[in-house]
Amino acid sequence: MPDTPYYLIDKSRLLPNLEKIAWLREESGAKSLLALKCFATWGVFDLMRQYMDGTTSSSLFEVKLGAEEFGGETHAYSVAWADHEIDEVIRVSDKVIFNTANQLRRFEAPSRDHTRGLRVNPGVSTSDFDLADPARPFSRLGEHAPEDIEPVADMISGFMFHNNCENADFERFDAMLGMIEQRFGHLIRRMDWISLGGGIHFTGDGYPLDKLAERLKRFGGQNEVQVYLEPGEAAITNSTTLEVTVLDTLHNGKNLAIVDSSVEAHMLDLLIYRESGKMTPDDGPEEWMICGKSCLAGDIFGEFRFPQPLTAGDRLSVQDAGGYTMVKKNWFNGVKMPAIAIRETDGTERLVRDFGYDDFKAALG
Ligand SMILES: *Cc1c(COP(=O)(O)O)cnc(C)c1O
Repeated sequence: MPDTPYYLIDKSRLLPNLEKIAWLREESGAKSLLALKCFATWGVFDLMRQYMDGTTSSSLFEVKLGAEEFGGETHAYSVAWADHEIDEVIRVSDKVIFNTANQLRRFEAPSRDHTRGLRVNPGVSTSDFDLADPARPFSRLGEHAPEDIEPVADMISGFMFHNNCENADFERFDAMLGMIEQRFGHLIRRMDWISLGGGIHFTGDGYPLDKLAERLKRFGGQNEVQVYLEPGEAAITNSTTLEVTVLDTLHNGKNLAIVDSSVEAHMLDLLIYRESGKMTPDDGPEEWMICGKSCLAGDIFGEFRFPQPLTAGDRLSVQDAGGYTMVKKNWFNGVKMPAIAIRETDGTERLVRDFGYDDFKAALG
């Protein structure tokens, strides 16, 4: 196995998520597209494509990666397309989804023979974090007024809504979908397909998957549309760990251990959303703060319990390190970027990518 740090994607932990996704399609008719902005480590796409219908994207590069490495249906969405991107976007995608009526009109001619959609912002969301709330005041994410959508409705065949965020509450999802139908139902019924976006935590333990399936099937049936979901986090949750080694320990009011990784460089979302990492098992008499090796004072994975004191050389696994991590890793402080390894279902592990000084240097000039 590689030296730490490395991300380890465990296919046998990925599979339960994928099986739920496939079950949902079977029961509800809703297709699922992987949201590449959350997870784009294409070394496991061979497995994922057996359970999912394709990919959705946030940029030209993601569209290309989805088309090249995942296959199936490729949805191309971006907050704004550039003039020099649009022809390639259309060439490699199955559908192009515009963020505004303005962009749809701007690219009407080059996209005329393509399947086109529009992002609609229903003005409700489940995000508690303003930073990640698509329905925040003055949001640029999608058209919000039916009267602005009406005039371009004949140019498109579908809508994309994305207003859930790690929503594990089915009743809340159901209520929001009801609001969407009430406000936009007359327009939805003119469409052939509707994407309900990501952010539904339907692969979590105890989620009422049967209720979700029934609701999606009813939504699709009553409105006579093909329903799509765009799971990111739900597809890969709990599948991946960040494997690190303790480099040093010290005591300053608390037990501190410094590992060969960095929150800011390798698990940035923990910092952005002020969350703690997860470590399992997390029990025992010893309490330690696990710290990154960058010089950022608050570069801290969290505080966890261990059976015995940590010492240099101990190996630790930070849990649930798949989503919004590898896609955001960076070279801050020149900390070695984690390698990427895959554990096959038979338990064998293989290294798929390592990063060295040359990659660091090449990214900067
Ligand atoms: C972020 C995003 C997703 C994926 O969201 P998850 O919370 O990771 O499921 C899907 N669709 C769109 C449009 C997004 O912006």
